[in-house]
Amino acid sequence: LSERLSGVFDRLTKQGALSEDDVKTALREVRVALLEADVSLPVARDFVKKVQDQATGQSVLKSITPGQQVIKIVHDALIDTLRGEGDPGALKIDNAPAPILMVGLQGSGKTTTTAKLAKRLTEREGKRVLMASLDVNRPAAMEQLAILGTQIGVDTLPIVKGEDPVAIAKRAKTQAALGGYDVYMLDTAGRLHIDAELIAQAAAVRDVANPRETLLVVDGLTGQDAVNVATEFDDKIGVTGVVLTRMDGDGRGGAALSMRAVTGKPIRFVGLGEKMDAIETFDPERIAGRILGMGDIVSLVEKAQATMEAEQAERMMKRFQKGQFNMNDLRMQLEQMQKMGGMESVMGMMPGMGKMAKQVQEAGFDDKIIARQIALIQSMTKKERANPQILQASRKKRIAKGAGLEVSQLNQLLKMHRQMADMMKKMGKGGMLKQAMKGMF
Ligand code: GDP
Ligand code: MG
Repeated sequence: LSERLSGVFDRLTKQGALSEDDVKTALREVRVALLEADVSLPVARDFVKKVQDQATGQSVLKSITPGQQVIKIVHDALIDTLRGEGDPGALKIDNAPAPILMVGLQGSGKTTTTAKLAKRLTEREGKRVLMASLDVNRPAAMEQLAILGTQIGVDTLPIVKGEDPVAIAKRAKTQAALGGYDVYMLDTAGRLHIDAELIAQAAAVRDVANPRETLLVVDGLTGQDAVNVATEFDDKIGVTGVVLTRMDGDGRGGAALSMRAVTGKPIRFVGLGEKMDAIETFDPERIAGRILGMGDIVSLVEKAQATMEAEQAERMMKRFQKGQFNMNDLRMQLEQMQKMGGMESVMGMMPGMGKMAKQVQEAGFDDKIIARQIALIQSMTKKERANPQILQASRKKRIAKGAGLEVSQLNQLLKMHRQMADMMKKMGKGGMLKQAMKGMF
């Protein structure tokens, strides 16, 4: 995956200018990458469309570093989609005792996450937390929370056999108020699949506790399924945030993007292992990098770009010093001039060329002429561009005709080319070329 993406971006960075087709090709690859990262098809499609609109709206096509710009747009758009409103780590726990309801499928990591968050609230925010297991289906599940509570030094509600989840929730509420707790966390039972009973039970608990936060815990490795689960839970119970667990695994994190795009619910935390400290607040930048399959994609490309330009400039300079200045070079220079505001301004910037700039101006050498000269070079064959000295009368006629111009205009171009090649050679010897090139790139 990352190979494919870096391949695309390499192609982009190697081009001087980016056509709309290039943007489309690149974004097709981005779309494939998203799908491979478990992002759902409609979400990937929408996302790519959004990026394309943005890319076309900006002046990507004229940019000197188009690849970099596209990557930044993709990267930033990912972050933009992933980021929810507000601070993901800030749980609403004013008005003690504040209830937090944990919901999700069986095995998604609810019990583990309940304990992790309780530890966090205790240690970082100095809160007094009470945890209660509502998982009456599996006695071992209640034990599990009690054991974790002992381990992290957080109180758990004493287990009473034969109680139903609603009764436990009521007892937790009373106990939390009497015991002066800031927060009480309700760890509900899950099932392998969503069914009416599971939803009814969670809804009944919700109505009793009236939770300040209802956190949906989903396994980040389940990809597409996770999104369906999230939609269902949000419709039936109403969730205030999502916790993605198992993000320490090698899933690409695409579920995060789909989840955000489809449910619009903020991702609040990510679980990064089985240990009690293995939880972090959600960081959209990290997940964006992960979805794209690269670490810091932007800086990577910037570096590649800089190296590429320096190498190219170096190579050109070496050739110019040897007097090798062919039509391809001239064309590049002419195009550079067009970009930089015309012949005059460029020559004015180049040391030793100020005088020539004046002559050029007096000779009426305007930007229309630059365009004509580029057309002439374009109508040359590859061989002719590399070795302009082979141009005989018949070739000249063909070239001029191809560009819709006169042979005399071609001769003008050839004369200018010879002058420039001479000058490059002279400047190369004097070390002035290096300075001049700096201004060009
Ligand atoms: P529950 O059924 O939703 O309560 O799930 P549990 O909290 O019991 O977790 C099920 C299993 O997943 C346990 O073995 C946990 O240690 C493990 N687990 C939970 N969260 C993470 C996580 O972020 N990373 C990893 N690698 N394992 C996790
Ligand atoms: Mg559990």
